[in-house]
Amino acid sequence: MIDGMIYAGGAFRPAAEASVSVFDHGLLYGDGVFEGIRAYNGRVFKLERHIERLFESARAIRLQIPSTRDEAAALVVETCRRNQIVDGYIRLLVTRGAGDLGLDPRGCPRPDLVVIARAGVTLYTRKPTDGITAVTSSFRRNAVDATSPAIKSLNYLNNVLARIEATDRGADEAILLDRDGHVAEATADNVFIVTERALVTPPTSTNLRGITRETILRLAEELGIRAEEQPFALFDLWSAREAFLCGTMAEVVPIASVDGRTIGTGTPGPTTMRLMAAYGELVRTTGTPIHRAATVEAVVAASYRV
Ligand code: PMP
Repeated sequence: MIDGMIYAGGAFRPAAEASVSVFDHGLLYGDGVFEGIRAYNGRVFKLERHIERLFESARAIRLQIPSTRDEAAALVVETCRRNQIVDGYIRLLVTRGAGDLGLDPRGCPRPDLVVIARAGVTLYTRKPTDGITAVTSSFRRNAVDATSPAIKSLNYLNNVLARIEATDRGADEAILLDRDGHVAEATADNVFIVTERALVTPPTSTNLRGITRETILRLAEELGIRAEEQPFALFDLWSAREAFLCGTMAEVVPIASVDGRTIGTGTPGPTTMRLMAAYGELVRTTGTPIHRAATVEAVVAASYRV
């Protein structure tokens, strides 16, 4: 059901009327960048980090975002406010804009910023505590010297294909390896394992610099859980005591099995449970307030406080 208000083309419009041109290079070539953001309990979680990452992605593809960081943050909050979001998911994207056919972005004079905010979110249909099943994808994560995995671009076809493959093989999620065969990440989440030594996640050279990933690393430090950023192989994942995925949409999700191998006991382990609880607490208690901020200045000031 398409309803609510969407920010696109420089104005708020009813969802049914919001559109981008068929000549938009975001559509024609996947030329653009985006963020997936969550709101919990009337606050936008980690808004300033998402805005920062959006601008970093845009810089990498030489895309001029048609607003300042403060304006973009204020637009996210305002879109949530107009859609009466308490708990929801926000999609913020910037497309290259309409131009002629042909790759050259110089013919696209006006990049377009779009904000969509929806109440309610589900990624995996299983109960979070049951854990998900994963398979290793035959697709490799983009090589770091191709389109960098750090760029959160509108080119998600590799991830879409891996997702389809997971579904075909009866799994909830796909794990992508990097070009060297190390574990990179899942289709929309970062991967962590718990070994006898530490909590381990791959370095960000082969995956998206996930905001949930960095939040988990900080929470681990606060909880006194030893954490390392180290490449690891499938064998390490198969033989881990615990494993979980994390991302804005997924939050922290235990992995019950990978490629038919049960991870640990097949139920969420103690480190995963502690991090799930700590993350759950953090998202409910921090973030930029949606409904209190009356002016852009107030919204902007608040968005940089947490
Ligand atoms: N990897 C990929 C490929 C993703 O699309 C996402 C979702 N944005 C993540 C990891 C998790 O990132 P974040 O925690 O910032 O949502």
